[in-house]
Amino acid sequence: MNFYYTNTHGDIEKYGSSEGIKVCPKRNKPYRQYREEQMPGCRDKEEDKCPYCREVVETSMSYDYHNYPLTDEEIEAYYNSKNNK
Ligand SMILES: [Zn+2]
Repeated sequence: MNFYYTNTHGDIEKYGSSEGIKVCPKRNKPYRQYREEQMPGCRDKEEDKCPYCREVVETSMSYDYHNYPLTDEEIEAYYNSKNNK
């Protein structure tokens, strides 16, 4: 699974959450994801849904997912950074 960490907020990481860019497997389009660890004891099945086409990319019993579409500029920057590797 593609999960690229672009976390610049060190303090958020302490609480078991992270921010990264994921790619919709259907459209191959990147989106921003905030992932938060669920509270132990009240875990629930969460769906990691593509913000563009609503495709369920994965499900988890450990994390809450908050997904947001990227702007055209961010999408372009994402592809550029990948091509330069
Ligand atoms: Zn999608």
